[in-house]
Amino acid sequence: MFSLTQFPLNFSDSEMAPYMSKETINCHYGKHLATYIKNLNDLSENTKYADMPLEEIIIKSAKDDSAKKIFNNAAQVFNHNFFFNSICPNGGGEVPAEIANAFGGADKFYAEFKSAAAGVFGSGWAWLVIDSGTLKIMTTSNADTPIAHNIKPILALDVWEHAYYLDYQNRRADFIDAFLSYMINWDFVLENLKLNN
Ligand code: MN
Repeated sequence: MFSLTQFPLNFSDSEMAPYMSKETINCHYGKHLATYIKNLNDLSENTKYADMPLEEIIIKSAKDDSAKKIFNNAAQVFNHNFFFNSICPNGGGEVPAEIANAFGGADKFYAEFKSAAAGVFGSGWAWLVIDSGTLKIMTTSNADTPIAHNIKPILALDVWEHAYYLDYQNRRADFIDAFLSYMINWDFVLENLKLNN
């Protein structure tokens, strides 16, 4: 019987401070993500989804009106795994040339990503993706995820309030700035770019 377990973080809970506090990581990774995993395992038990790999659960449940809860929890597990891999201690720094060039320069990439992430109404996600061979920025609402739309994610930012409220309260723009300048794991991003080119 397939049962999903939580993937380990690539850093300790205090290493992302001051941009993301230990309290946020313990609540976000330790409680929110853990709950999505538990819910997914509980909901999929004894269903056709029980033995599927995570990405297959997402793609199939996205088209199944009777499996909305399974989709929401599975997509949130995928999105969070992607997000926690998108950040690292001492992250950020120079935008890789292949990404900067696709947006007309690093400043334009930052501005477009920030504007998209700040513009998510309510809960959701900002993404750098490859859609039909082209690098783009997109957003998704709630649990929705690019892979449900046959779009390849390259970089993820969680803009649900639980991702930043303990550290930034209502200042989502400051969280986005900190993510872009100090948290992005560009090695992970470049690896995804290579896999999808
Ligand atoms: Mn989250």
